[in-house]
Amino acid sequence: MATFTGLTYGGQEWTPKFVEAIDPMKCMGCGRCIKVCSQGALGLDTFMDEDDMQRMISIIADKDRCIGCQACGRTCAKRCFTFAPKEI
Ligand code: SF4
Ligand code: SF4
Repeated sequence: MATFTGLTYGGQEWTPKFVEAIDPMKCMGCGRCIKVCSQGALGLDTFMDEDDMQRMISIIADKDRCIGCQACGRTCAKRCFTFAPKEI
């Protein structure tokens, strides 16, 4: 299966890795990933944890907007993100 690739400005091959999942158990709802996403692909939502405590977490609000830059993952101190290239 082929993988979707692009080119950098300088013409080097680049494989975007798109957001796949955000671990709700690790997320502390700080919102840093939402601020850093230039595409508006992420958002906040409520989550009920195993102790029946409601808290805010980051979610993938619109995956179709993701450009695969992984900036959200780099800014997340809790390493909540999973990414994958797109098969074509
Ligand atoms: S940066 Fe990480 S911990 Fe903070 S809201 Fe985003 S996913 Fe959650
Ligand atoms: S990989 Fe980039 S575009 Fe996709 S959700 Fe993360 S910051 Fe936004």
